[in-house]
Amino acid sequence: MKISEKQIELVNSRIQALEKAGSFYGKKLKEAGITEIHTAEDFEKLPFSEKSDLRDAYPLGLMTAPEEEIVRIHSSSGTTGTPVIIPYTAKDVDDWAIMFKRCYETAGITNMDRIQITPGYGLWTAGIGFQNGAEKLGAMVIPMGPGNTDKQLQMMQDMKSTVLCSTSSYALLLAEEIEKRGIKDKIHLKKGVIGSERWSDKMRERIHNELGIELFDIYGLTEIYGPGIGINCPGETAMHYWDDFLYLEIIDPATGKNVPDGEVGEIVITTLVKEGAPLIRYRTHDLSRIVPGKCKCGRCYPRIDVIMGRTDDMMKIKGVNVFPSQIEEVIGSFDEISSEYQIRISHLDGKDTMRIYVEATGDHDWASLSRRIAEKVKSRIGFTPIVKIVEIGVLPRSMKKTARVIDERYD
Ligand code: ZN
Repeated sequence: MKISEKQIELVNSRIQALEKAGSFYGKKLKEAGITEIHTAEDFEKLPFSEKSDLRDAYPLGLMTAPEEEIVRIHSSSGTTGTPVIIPYTAKDVDDWAIMFKRCYETAGITNMDRIQITPGYGLWTAGIGFQNGAEKLGAMVIPMGPGNTDKQLQMMQDMKSTVLCSTSSYALLLAEEIEKRGIKDKIHLKKGVIGSERWSDKMRERIHNELGIELFDIYGLTEIYGPGIGINCPGETAMHYWDDFLYLEIIDPATGKNVPDGEVGEIVITTLVKEGAPLIRYRTHDLSRIVPGKCKCGRCYPRIDVIMGRTDDMMKIKGVNVFPSQIEEVIGSFDEISSEYQIRISHLDGKDTMRIYVEATGDHDWASLSRRIAEKVKSRIGFTPIVKIVEIGVLPRSMKKTARVIDERYD
């Protein structure tokens, strides 16, 4: 998915704006003597921007448009340290709503839908992003914000909400409450638009079954507008993203080099038309891959896969980048084993070895089962692991995901 000529043109106009404003990135480019780019190779040589750069710019160092054009700021809630402030122009706010409207349309949501919004409003980009897009679409918004489940369910029934916008955990909580209260026949929900945290297939299935609604993953981050920059289409898991507003790359997080389409790596985003705080080659630390080929739905917008985790989870084995989520996915596709697993990486006789421990759930031919699992893992990551099957209940329970991987190479 190389950058197109049209996109290069847009990047150049952003480079000029950044240099004129003298923001951190503008300075970086000036120091490197770059005023414009001409080819995809030029683009791939541009420096990355990182969250720490954005923090260093606190409070308003990212502001790239004149103050009289800035209409709003948002802030990403840093769990630690200085927050990031993103200024928006009126056009940025409108562009974001256009993208979000496109997300709703991709999900088959129309101006006859009633959209109940449960993510938070305020400095955060969630609630207001869902709302602006819905209003752009012409749908009826029920702007609830988070919490107050009683009121939430009351409005859901009285207003006959047809679309629920929420986090996956809140959607599950609502689903369980609806079940518990026996009010399922009073609920008119048809679709759920779920903010793109990483959620398990099991959770998705439970929400889908209990609420009987079609679920959509919406992608986005505060640094890049907010939610609404990508969504999956009906019947597919991969998410379309809007390449007239954004250019996405997938890089090897260790080397910073672009990986071929289809390979997993870190999502890096360039905003093509943003005015208030344009970002070039922003490292999201989210893991995904470009899904090659055309989508069955016929839309020409390119696609990324569901978010597979964070770059911090990456393991380098035999020179190959491996992510626990890839192993998890393979394990989840076998009915003969539980969802528990443990990965042990060791270095023996000059080479890396990966052992995967899994639990058999019943009476199976363990030798053939482990062979089949190993083959499937190889097809995902490129080399064959040693798969060891143990009895159910042997592996430690309720461990954090990171603790499932034990790297014995550097002991
Ligand atoms: Zn599609």
